[in-house]
Amino acid sequence: MNQEKINFNAGPAALPATVLQQAANAVLKYKNTGISILELPHRGPEFLEIIEESKALVKELCEIGDDYDVLWLQGGGRMQFSMIPMNFLSTGDTAGYIDSGHWAAEAMEYGAYYGQIQVMGSSRATHYNHLPEWPSDIPNHLKYLHITTNNTIYGTQYSDIPKVNVPLIADMSSDIFSRKWDYNRYDLIYAAAQKNLGTPGVALVIVKKDMLSRISNHLPPMLNYKAQVHENSILNTANVSGVYISLLMLRWIKEKGIANIEADNNNKAEILYKAIDESKLFTGYVQNPAHRSKMNICFTAKDKETELAFLELCAENNIIGLQGHRSTGGFRVSIYNSIEVASVRTLVELMKKFETNS
Ligand SMILES: *Cc1c(COP(=O)(O)O)cnc(C)c1O
Repeated sequence: MNQEKINFNAGPAALPATVLQQAANAVLKYKNTGISILELPHRGPEFLEIIEESKALVKELCEIGDDYDVLWLQGGGRMQFSMIPMNFLSTGDTAGYIDSGHWAAEAMEYGAYYGQIQVMGSSRATHYNHLPEWPSDIPNHLKYLHITTNNTIYGTQYSDIPKVNVPLIADMSSDIFSRKWDYNRYDLIYAAAQKNLGTPGVALVIVKKDMLSRISNHLPPMLNYKAQVHENSILNTANVSGVYISLLMLRWIKEKGIANIEADNNNKAEILYKAIDESKLFTGYVQNPAHRSKMNICFTAKDKETELAFLELCAENNIIGLQGHRSTGGFRVSIYNSIEVASVRTLVELMKKFETNS
């Protein structure tokens, strides 16, 4: 492979070399069709096979049954911020949102276009450097409770979610398939693909069938979960190549195994947090170990000069993508499933070298 750089970008994120090679082959010629995956008809038998295999793999990896439908929709994460309230929230209804980070807050803003929002906990006042306390009482009248399992920008992540008494909806864009997890707890799960699961423009949606009977608004088919299920995600010209790359990722995840992926993710996070905590130049953004993300690791340098110097050293060493989000500054190292333990070790060695020389 000719990947020359270690890419710690938060999204679009690094893909495994084998997946890139398979995708490259498919761009030249898809199986024995004589044409490229980029030219493959969305209503032909080959794409139907891609859809069916990907749906089966999602169910297998999530250990969920036929009470769920699996969709590949366009528009990424934000389209789901929109579709959720469009489908399940009408004027006069209330939905609960946990305000645990930038994306959680944006999902909440989108919800407010359609109904009342009840904030069920927030860590906004401390710039989301910890998870909000879990709500002690969740009112039964809420149409749903929306949570974000991993907060990509600030680097916090839930390690457990209590059972709830209203439909539970989760944005898992940045930690889906990163660990053993009880997906059966959720009524709707969504994930923009460009973090752990492929390329931009595709979102995976896993929706419990009985949620489809709760759709309360009259919507054009493209925005209606039930119509999308009915059309098997091929309502309009689908993102054929994007879904195919997600299928390649799902096969890669299955082959590696969720247990091995989780072990590697734990290992990577431990190596990096240890280096940050032992450092005199760097400080972890999230101090509570129980709230720390194993996917996005955020930290700051003691001053701006140190920050820029370290970024420059990384660039010289072909390590890219560790600037913090434009809203936070500092550093963010995204160590999704595709990132190898060796890449994290390389970064940590460079941090130590930098510290010794400064
Ligand atoms: C990246 C991200 C999004 C936004 O996805 P877009 O596809 O850019 O709209 C939403 N939620 C989370 C948790 C994310 O990490």
